[in-house]
Amino acid sequence: MQNNGFTKKVAVVGTGFVGMSFAYALLCDGACDELVLLDIDREKAVGEAMDLNHGLAFAKTNMNITAGEYRDCADADIVVICAGVSQKPGEDRISLLQRNRKVFESIVEPVLASGFDGIFLVATNPVDIMTRVVYRLSGFSSGRVIGSGTTLDTARLRYLLGAYFTVDPKNVHAYVIGEHGDSEMTPWSQALVGTKPIRDIVAGQPDRFSLEALDRIAADVTNAAYRIIRAKNATYYGIGLALVRIVKAIFGGENSVLTVSAKLCGEYGVQDVFAGVPCILGREGVRGVLTLELEPHEMERFRASCRLLDRIWKDSFSEK
Ligand code: NAD
Repeated sequence: MQNNGFTKKVAVVGTGFVGMSFAYALLCDGACDELVLLDIDREKAVGEAMDLNHGLAFAKTNMNITAGEYRDCADADIVVICAGVSQKPGEDRISLLQRNRKVFESIVEPVLASGFDGIFLVATNPVDIMTRVVYRLSGFSSGRVIGSGTTLDTARLRYLLGAYFTVDPKNVHAYVIGEHGDSEMTPWSQALVGTKPIRDIVAGQPDRFSLEALDRIAADVTNAAYRIIRAKNATYYGIGLALVRIVKAIFGGENSVLTVSAKLCGEYGVQDVFAGVPCILGREGVRGVLTLELEPHEMERFRASCRLLDRIWKDSFSEK
């Protein structure tokens, strides 16, 4: 961290739907003191900064919001990358890779040239691979390169399970892990409502609940983005809030557990792949990866998701 250690400074690269939903949620939450907006379309960043500043009189805390240059990242604590192309109806996340890889090369280099020495947080899809791209380009330690991973998917899962069991999603403890995408998975062996294993609740009330319904919920989570994109062309509020949650966990030194995309170094028998896993997040970024006691079939699905991410990485970056 290069600033005085008291000011919480965030730079957002990419002021599209995702970047600005995040920025707006940051403002509403008062989650930082300084916010710099950057975009290849400088005029857009200027207009967005003006628009947010005009809400300051109604915000709960003051915030210094500007449209900036890459040199303004020098003393940022967190650079959040939301720039690049997004999915069109029917398109999967992986197909964005080559286009967004070029976008990232044009971003990470000037951020580093500014002297930035904080934490990278990546939202751009395919997020697990784009996070690995930033790790490779930046040379930062893995704990300081984080993707939003399956944070949003986990929130979608908790919301849907909360509705199914008529329980506040905050009391649903369940994770989506693996790729933020089609191969992600939900290990039901790890899912609790309150302190009760979800499968025990289902077994105890077979007239009300079923394992088939749980699997339909998991599939709905995986397909949620396709559904929203069909309906309104893009998804952004949920990810904006998920990014704020991650940023607050970092600034607050919370040591909260969130399913961000982090580098696996042997956990789950996986090496070098960035994937969504429950991580302890604190002031210095990812402090550790939690190793869940997965059942053998769950472990196999999780590893298959990681193998897919690794194969795509190797195919695209010829690192064989
Ligand atoms: P958008 O098109 O609205 O915004 C993208 C912005 O990036 C634009 O303002 C564009 O000018 C800017 N940009 C493009 N190239 C740039 C460059 N080289 N340097 C700086 N800025 C540049 O797209 P969006 O809907 O905001 O989506 C952004 C990304 O977030 C997409 O990849 C999308 O798939 C992803 N996304 C991720 C999640 C998640 O859970 N991680 C959820 C939703 C969307």
